Amino acid sequence: MKLLSDKTSPALGKDAYRLAVTPQGVHLASGGREGRMYGLVTLQQLQDQLAAQPEGIPCGVITDKPRYPWRGMMVDPARHFIPIKDLKKFVDLMAYYKFNKLHVHLTDNQGWRLPVPGYPRLKSVASKREESFGDGIPHEGMYTRQELKDLVAYCAARGIEVIPEIDVPGHNQALAAAYPEFFCFPKPDMKVRTVAGNSKELVCPQKPEVWKFYAAVFKELKDIFPSNTVHLGGDEAPTELWKKCPLCREARTKAGMKDEQEQMRAFFAKMTALLDKNGQTPQFWYEGNADIYHPGETVYAWRQDQARQAIEKTKKAGLNLIMASNEYCYLDFPQFPGQYNWGWMQTTTLQKCYELDPAFGKSTAEAGHIRGVHAPVWAEHLPDLNHLLYRVYP
Ligand SMILES: [Zn+2]
Repeated sequence: MKLLSDKTSPALGKDAYRLAVTPQGVHLASGGREGRMYGLVTLQQLQDQLAAQPEGIPCGVITDKPRYPWRGMMVDPARHFIPIKDLKKFVDLMAYYKFNKLHVHLTDNQGWRLPVPGYPRLKSVASKREESFGDGIPHEGMYTRQELKDLVAYCAARGIEVIPEIDVPGHNQALAAAYPEFFCFPKPDMKVRTVAGNSKELVCPQKPEVWKFYAAVFKELKDIFPSNTVHLGGDEAPTELWKKCPLCREARTKAGMKDEQEQMRAFFAKMTALLDKNGQTPQFWYEGNADIYHPGETVYAWRQDQARQAIEKTKKAGLNLIMASNEYCYLDFPQFPGQYNWGWMQTTTLQKCYELDPAFGKSTAEAGHIRGVHAPVWAEHLPDLNHLLYRVYP
């Protein structure tokens, strides 16, 4: 199909386009770089699906733009390392489906994948585990700074921004194995976690070396990722060790904090201030307690059947929301009944995914703070690209 014209029309909006298919060929008008990419992708999709038919692509006009600015996917190389060449294949498919944010979950209990100058044990200890779920096979992986920069450039050429995630204060057993002194009760024999599930180890906010470490981490992120957005996780952080820790207890008493949740709020505020020194801003997994975040911040609704409540509570708290409610958006979940679910996953059919209205029918006044949608692909049980793509694309 011949492209007869390819015009910029800023009035459309930067990520909008208009595609007119005539018997003679195609006319494309787009509002900006993103809109042009999406217009060309739509044309490619039409050709892929319809060009084999005797009539070819039907004549008609498509005027299209995304409903939300944020259309993300998350990959989880912390659980199973994903080489950059495989991530690029994943990114090609994201571009084909017009996603524009790649969120890379770089750290978790089962592995740490970001090198940080001055902290060699991240590679020698935190990036390796003895086995996965008792399989007896060692697993390891660490990106280099150059590989990550290469990924960023590859994504940028396809209209995709890369968002790094460093999960704090929990999901940190791999870090605890490498640097036990960052934690409330250092355990020199701690190992990188080999199974799913959570760890009680939270970094101790009262230790100066913790803040020195994260300053180095954020500086490294700043050097690698042009995006100023840093996902800080903040999820599933049981505070029982903070409750017992003498340093944490003393700090709470001194600051007049009534409980560990107040300490969590202060911890997030201090992390945010540290990011702010580099011009970076945080995002968090939303944990249902809107008070621990600060107005203007962006959180992800992810917990099952809590989306409506999350929309209401985050609106009241002045937060921005990205919809990633797991019963619609977790693409590692099984696609049909009977497909293996590892005991905790709801069946998420293609139809179910498409049924998601991120605003759940709410008006702009009630849901205007929703920035978009996000599809995490957790990889506790996805050892390689084939498994990953099998789960994501039915
Ligand atoms: Zn502590």
